[in-house]
Amino acid sequence: MNKFWEYKTLSRMSDTEWESLCDGCGKCCLNKLIDDETEELHFTNVSCHLLHTKSCQCRKYDQRFKLVNDCVKVSLDDIQQFHWLPSSCAYRRLAEGKPIPEWHPLITGSKSAMHKGGFSVRGKIISEKTIDPDKLGDYIAIWPAE
Ligand code: SF4
Ligand code: SF4
Repeated sequence: MNKFWEYKTLSRMSDTEWESLCDGCGKCCLNKLIDDETEELHFTNVSCHLLHTKSCQCRKYDQRFKLVNDCVKVSLDDIQQFHWLPSSCAYRRLAEGKPIPEWHPLITGSKSAMHKGGFSVRGKIISEKTIDPDKLGDYIAIWPAE
């Protein structure tokens, strides 16, 4: 196994390597709220309408930026903003000098350990299509940030 993430910095990775760092957990596709007073970021358990709640994959990945205004591309240009990513996310972890999680698909060869270990959003979320957007504050969840 070529553990490129152990010897290459994020800036030296190829596009394919960069893409493969995404474990597909779906946590960055959850709606988030920012507290007006404290500017604290809160995750919710409500997903973007394009996220498949079981597979945790985007239904329109190729068109995502066209279809969803606040869909964010994780890129090195944004490295100062990585704090909004969950602490399990490989991009954030590597940027912080931490190893990628042992259940990561690059290590285990599939997403199975991630899903079984409860590290993805599978089984924990509802789609934004099913809620009143004014009630998003009722769905704040702690686990996505952990
Ligand atoms: S949180 Fe990170 S690892 Fe998970 S889907 Fe988003 S970019 Fe990929
Ligand atoms: S458009 Fe796709 S990638 Fe973007 S937030 Fe929605 S589900 Fe996630």
